[in-house]
Amino acid sequence: MTDHIGRFAPSPSGPLHSGSLLAAVASYVDAKAHKGQWLLRIEDVDRHRTVKGSRDRILKSLEHHGLHWDGTIELQTNNDDRYEAALEQLHQQQKVFFCQCSRTALKQTPGPYPGTCRTKKTSRYIAATRHQPASHTLRFECGEDTIDFTDRILGKQSFELAQLGDFILRRRDSLFAYQLAVVIDDAEQSVTSVVRGADLLSSTPWQIALQQALNLPAMNYAHLPLITHANNGQKLSKQTGALAINNSHAANNIYIALTQLGQQLPEQAQRLSVEQLLIWAIDHWQINRIPKTALIAS
Ligand code: GLU
Repeated sequence: MTDHIGRFAPSPSGPLHSGSLLAAVASYVDAKAHKGQWLLRIEDVDRHRTVKGSRDRILKSLEHHGLHWDGTIELQTNNDDRYEAALEQLHQQQKVFFCQCSRTALKQTPGPYPGTCRTKKTSRYIAATRHQPASHTLRFECGEDTIDFTDRILGKQSFELAQLGDFILRRRDSLFAYQLAVVIDDAEQSVTSVVRGADLLSSTPWQIALQQALNLPAMNYAHLPLITHANNGQKLSKQTGALAINNSHAANNIYIALTQLGQQLPEQAQRLSVEQLLIWAIDHWQINRIPKTALIAS
């Protein structure tokens, strides 16, 4: 074992589809190629999007596809206390503000959050966040820094935080936001390597800004090409009607995922079992072969 820790972090809002399987396979093979651990976290922080039964379906699909996680499964719904503690720490640093902008008002000013409520940080507001948690959102004040990082697939990235705007840490319905939860959980689970879809590339600078504010260790990132629908170019997702993966075609699904990831497979690959394919992929993993641009669903 090395200290490389990767993870797969699906939201239980539906079954796995070929896009999420790609992230599962890539993060698994990458972790195992580095002789590291591969953790599983169910990102159920947004209780409203949770679809009953989908967590079990996801676990079952992962098992069918030979993707066995290390350790116990982490559930975000158990972690409110740690998110609250992080929020408190950010409050102390005056990095959080109380935002009462309505959705309608924000729609009228397209682009990043205009900074309207940034001054609402005094103790009066902090007290209000505890006593009427649902009347407003809490946002992180990003400042003007530039965030630079080198993506293991996409290369050098540079983002101006001012262009991205202040983001939500806790929502109006008082649920913690994904951006906060993911940063806290990755740190808590000692994750060193994040491999996930390129739809989250623009969230990465926000997450790095949060890590820096909270003094959490940096990690490395690899953003995978998205799979898009052949007819309209939309990202394959539960919302755009992506089909659940078929567990009875697991070996073929793994074969397709590895092909989409640009990995060189042996001639007889289509006759190999799930386990044999994964072992081959781990032994021959080349992250630099992963395409940088979107893939079209077959
Ligand atoms: N929960 C997110 C999703 O299912 C993934 C978050 C991440 O990998 O950081 O899209």
